[in-house]
Amino acid sequence: MAYNVAIDGPAGAGKSTIAKAVAKRLGLIYVDTGAMYRAMALFMIRENIDPQDAEAISKKCQEADITIDYENGEQVVRLNGENVNGLLRTEKVGNMASVTSVQPAVRVKLVELQQALARVRDCIMDGRDIGTCVLPDAQVKIYLTASSQVRAKRRFEELTAKGESCDLAKIKADIEERDYRDMNREHSPLKQAEDAILVDSSDMTIEEVVEKIIALCEAAK
Ligand code: C5P
Repeated sequence: MAYNVAIDGPAGAGKSTIAKAVAKRLGLIYVDTGAMYRAMALFMIRENIDPQDAEAISKKCQEADITIDYENGEQVVRLNGENVNGLLRTEKVGNMASVTSVQPAVRVKLVELQQALARVRDCIMDGRDIGTCVLPDAQVKIYLTASSQVRAKRRFEELTAKGESCDLAKIKADIEERDYRDMNREHSPLKQAEDAILVDSSDMTIEEVVEKIIALCEAAK
């Protein structure tokens, strides 16, 4: 059986930064499941699908072939053959992903892909439902969170560094709206698995969180 570490938590908690660093240190591959939901959202945006039209999303998602490869240790997401990595990390795509990911047809398709990867590769996988639904038998489960104020500030700094103009209050409102949707949806809502360890990174540096998670992984061996 492959070695699996699950990290769940709300938007902007630092899951991907932390998971990437832990993956490197422990020699695991990093599986970013949000990127898969974002690729699906990008497809829906391109196809002009109405985010409120559940039936259209369920039908249309069957036409999106999403695959994951690893090139130089980096996850490459392909949407119908096109490498879309550079197009996924915008607020527009993230917000659309949180709307389209409520649809069971979308989830079934992407969860299958995630489980198939985790069966054969030692990995650290991050998302919203990894510990609860995707990898219920993961050897280590972490629920990584931080206050919405801290998360909004981190995202603001990330976007500003990339040269995107943005508004902190708007980002905080978007994060809270996204949290609400992710935590209250019917299928696979975001929640801490019973056997997950809670890590609140509000007052921790990236290095401190990485060290803490590595210690938890080592303790679970
Ligand atoms: O983590 P990230 O911000 O990239 O995820 C984008 C959206 O995809 C989330 O807000 C959530 O709605 C959805 N998602 C999900 N299940 C996952 C990962 C992401 O529903 N395992």
